[in-house]
Amino acid sequence: MRLNKHIISLQPSATLEINEKVKALRKQGEQITHFGFGQSPFPIFSSITKALIEHAGNNHYLPVNGLESLREEIANFLKKHQMVLVDKNSIFIGPGSKELLYQSILIFEGHFLIPKGSWVSYVPQIKSKGGTYSVLETDISNNFKLTATALEEFLLKSKQSEHILILNSPNNPTGAVYTDLEYQRLAAVCRKYNVVVFSDEIYSQINFTEGQSVSISNYYPEKTIVFGGLSKVFSAGGYRLGFMALPNELSELSNAYKSLFSETFSCVSSPIQMAAIAAYTYPPDLIKYVGDSSSILKGVSQYIFENLTKNNISCTNPQGAFYMMVGFDQFREKINLLGIETSQQLALYLLEKYHVALLPGSDFGFQKNELFFRLAFVDFDGKDVMEAYLKKVNIDEAFIKQHCPRVFSGVQKLIEFAKEG
Ligand code: PLP
Repeated sequence: MRLNKHIISLQPSATLEINEKVKALRKQGEQITHFGFGQSPFPIFSSITKALIEHAGNNHYLPVNGLESLREEIANFLKKHQMVLVDKNSIFIGPGSKELLYQSILIFEGHFLIPKGSWVSYVPQIKSKGGTYSVLETDISNNFKLTATALEEFLLKSKQSEHILILNSPNNPTGAVYTDLEYQRLAAVCRKYNVVVFSDEIYSQINFTEGQSVSISNYYPEKTIVFGGLSKVFSAGGYRLGFMALPNELSELSNAYKSLFSETFSCVSSPIQMAAIAAYTYPPDLIKYVGDSSSILKGVSQYIFENLTKNNISCTNPQGAFYMMVGFDQFREKINLLGIETSQQLALYLLEKYHVALLPGSDFGFQKNELFFRLAFVDFDGKDVMEAYLKKVNIDEAFIKQHCPRVFSGVQKLIEFAKEG
């Protein structure tokens, strides 16, 4: 039997092992704080579910690039709420941004550049087609954001003729958000070296200080493809709808995308596309709902950040999304005495001994022996927390203790671990 060696050689991620272990421990009745799971905790806004129900009878195949009225709505949304200018005909709808990123990775033949501290799926997607990539160095001092200097240093030495940079802001796993200036500088380097950018903006409106996040396409429109979708901002991961916006300069790729879509998924489910129209019209009550969700996430993340840093645990300071990176390198000596060398080993130890699940940084571009972990701060009941937040706006320790008890105990356990020995 001959099989595709690129796919057969993909390893199950360390994340998978942690998730399986959490399931097994919970089945045994153990109380676990699952800081590993990155799904929006909030219910889907009612106008979106209502539209889905209304269109449940719609059984038609739709155009491969998506319903025209939805593409139009997304183009308006991008202009108004993300400052991204694209024509509705440059927008493509797919079953999740993950699939659209994957199809884009299949279409582009260059060398991929992934900043250290990037989403878990980019590298396996590149590997699965036998593509090449480099992880670019980043540092906790600026929340593991890629700097223009680090990018240029790499490109100056690179022997590859074409590069595709995958950027993600607000970021999974760090919670970092790129500023205008950082993007202007990165854009200048990308332009100089003719780099194509995949800008993964799936968390764009989950921004802790603004209602939206800046896009690098403002400064580098000609070679940036913007990705987004329903999963995070609209808490509808299971709906499986994402979009991508192709710049005019790359419009010759439209036919390649349409052909690949039509030979693979055909189109996204029709009722889901109708529900997505309700999301992307983005009326004031929905804007407020997303804003309240972001304020809650900000409050929870600030509580965790303050308590962990006070106890000498390193943390990125999240500005958006659901995540932060936490680090235990400063405890390396005592950790090594436990016979633990890698982040994967320490993640298993923390889960078994302290009942806290964190994901090892090695799945996010960190070296195996760097003791960094992704902490997702969404292990709470979003409906209950939203109701409580609307009554009492201050998210303090008493609020966390009452409404996010697993987050509270997880933080206590991590502090206990840091103080141990
Ligand atoms: N990009 C990032 C950074 C993500 O965190 C995720 C989901 O976890 C995705 C893309 C995929 O999202 P979708 O549900 O649209 O496929």
